[in-house]
Amino acid sequence: MDTETNTTTVCPKCSGQMERGGLRGDSSLVWGRIKETSIFGVKAVQMIPPAYVIDAYRCGNCGYLEMYAPREQGK
Ligand SMILES: [Zn+2]
Repeated sequence: MDTETNTTTVCPKCSGQMERGGLRGDSSLVWGRIKETSIFGVKAVQMIPPAYVIDAYRCGNCGYLEMYAPREQGK
């Protein structure tokens, strides 16, 4: 999965060329399973590890974003 750093894919919306990038700058930009709990009637959402780092592909033509989370955070 990580063999090429400049992989391009084709946009599923407009067939434009998509460029690989990432979402960074905020520690909450990871994917994880969530568990909804209700304590004394108050709903809370908990994130269950492991968390995955998000890779995003952006279409240079229409701006469509496609996201993948192939790697576990911290690995
Ligand atoms: Zn597009």
